[in-house]
Amino acid sequence: MRLVVLGTDTEAGKTTLCALLLAAFPERLVYWKPLQTGLPDSDTVVRLVPSAVCYPALAAFNDPVAPVLAARREGKELPGPEEIARAVPQPPPGRILLIETFGGPLSPLTDSTLQIDFLRLLADAAFVVVTPSRVGAVGRVLQTVRAVESHGPLVRAVVLLGPRDDFAHSTLVRHLPGRAVLSVLTPEEWTPAAFEHAAGRQRATLATLLELFQPGQRLSATPARVLLPGPAERARRVSRDRAVVWHPFTMLTGPEPLEVVAGEDEFLVLADGRRVVDAIGSWWTILHGHRDPQLVAAAEATLQELDHVHFAGLTHRWAIRLAELLLGTMAWPEGGRVFFSDDGSTAVEVAVKLAYQYWCIKGKPERSEFVGFEGGYHGDTCGAMSVSRDRVFFGHFEPLLFPAHITPLCPDRLGELLRRNANRIAAIVLEPLVQGAGGMRIYTAELLQRLVAVARRYDVLVIFDEVLTGLYRTGRFWAHEHAAVVPDLLCTAKALAGGLCPVAATLVAPWVVETFRQAEPEHVFYHGHTFTAHPVACSVAEANVRRVLSEGESRVGRIERFFRQRLAPLRGRRGVRDVRILGNIAAVELDLPGGYRAGVRQTAIAVGLHHGVLLRPLGPVLYAIPPWCISDRSLEAIAASFEACVAELFD
Ligand SMILES: *Cc1c(COP(=O)(O)O)cnc(C)c1O
Repeated sequence: MRLVVLGTDTEAGKTTLCALLLAAFPERLVYWKPLQTGLPDSDTVVRLVPSAVCYPALAAFNDPVAPVLAARREGKELPGPEEIARAVPQPPPGRILLIETFGGPLSPLTDSTLQIDFLRLLADAAFVVVTPSRVGAVGRVLQTVRAVESHGPLVRAVVLLGPRDDFAHSTLVRHLPGRAVLSVLTPEEWTPAAFEHAAGRQRATLATLLELFQPGQRLSATPARVLLPGPAERARRVSRDRAVVWHPFTMLTGPEPLEVVAGEDEFLVLADGRRVVDAIGSWWTILHGHRDPQLVAAAEATLQELDHVHFAGLTHRWAIRLAELLLGTMAWPEGGRVFFSDDGSTAVEVAVKLAYQYWCIKGKPERSEFVGFEGGYHGDTCGAMSVSRDRVFFGHFEPLLFPAHITPLCPDRLGELLRRNANRIAAIVLEPLVQGAGGMRIYTAELLQRLVAVARRYDVLVIFDEVLTGLYRTGRFWAHEHAAVVPDLLCTAKALAGGLCPVAATLVAPWVVETFRQAEPEHVFYHGHTFTAHPVACSVAEANVRRVLSEGESRVGRIERFFRQRLAPLRGRRGVRDVRILGNIAAVELDLPGGYRAGVRQTAIAVGLHHGVLLRPLGPVLYAIPPWCISDRSLEAIAASFEACVAELFD
């Protein structure tokens, strides 16, 4: 947990605020000022608050001028944004790291960077802007907030230091909705006693800044701009849609589509003005909420620098950082790599092709077959279809698919299959713990462990398709962490950029990478997609992953607890075959014949809309994977819509 104190300028009162916070909460905070010039602020802090714990500066210079200038005068080099970010100390558990910045957020850092270039790497921190409470405060604060937020980070609170100024206070509240605005009195003198006294008297006010870390505290999306068409325009659009657009998984003569005009938080706004809860998070992509402010800001900031560039022989820092972050989530030793693509299916195609080529390099080109599992789903491209082979989805395409073995999720059956065919098999492909499109079928970590153990026994590669289950959906960053097993290749997509834009990745284990590294030049991996590692998508994904790592547990825990309490009682109701819950995934399987074609979709959509909820069942399975920002009220609406569907179909 990090609290970053920004000033509207030098002498804005950053050190004063830090010292007050440390005096008020010595047991909660640890102080760090990475770059110091002149009289070190950390000395001042320790003098004023003898109990304060301070980490040493990364670099300190004698001249009280901009760090880049001070460094030049001493013939030294300043650390760059990435270097400072890597040096951020890890405070003891439960403590908050208080980071004091220098100058203003846009003050120069190195010759070619600004301080903000470091700050935006701290996407999961809470940012506070401090300014003296005197004439010009409103303008100074708004300029600073806008400048910071246009680069990505969101400012959570503003502190006016000095006697309360009602005008400044109320004006800032009006222009900065959702942020805390505080007035804090400065101590009478610069002595430990005065700081202790001022901190003690204002403890409750200062505590607001620590509460920025309460789980559940969040910034809503800025309200969407909603343009509602009139009834005639609505009808015209739908009829144009039906004339020119081909929708996925939809009969050309199927029911009319619903037009969506806007999204914010957990809601979609329909063209007729209804606001409905997006219960399935727009096909499992929307993680924090629609138009999440941090992700939108990350996209906007990147667009000010670069739009798109091809990725063969070129690179960019957004892709590098995302790759580092993703590899950091894996229990692999050093040496893994990330191959970027655009969506889940392409991530799977890459994994399948890499797995086969791996065996070619090893001199075993006969290992060209794959094993998938009944109920599995890996996408709609030919390779992905081949390894899932669902009859309803892919039956027509059978002649186009390559040979693959489809077996039940059963270690004995897999063992039998591999015993007979191991020398022809490249890899097994499976979704850890939850078979999503197959009907949100949940299985145990123990079963996953046993399946992987069988594959290992026969020296077959293991591909985890975490396109749905990754990013904390199941209560861990990756679902396979529940089973403490590791794959050779891992696919991720869907929520990787929090639903804001498409991006996918295939993570490759070090030992697979090593095989390719040592291979002859003809074994270069000839594969790529036009938009591989799109910079905007990578930057959004990076901001997203950082947040998921820091917030995932509390956000998902809350939703899981709600589902367990509220939906478990549906078990045993007439018409309910099963209730399955894991992480933020909840599924209610209805007792209906017909499998995927069970005719509940239109009923569920109608009943859901009546309850203000947009549902889209998978065959007879009603399910929800809501955005994490969802309110208790919207969660309740989802539960009520499930109950109403059961009642409608069975009572
Ligand atoms: C959705 C999904 C895919 C396919 O992803 P697309 O982005 O739709 O191509 C692959 N695997 C799993 C597990 C999925 O849920």
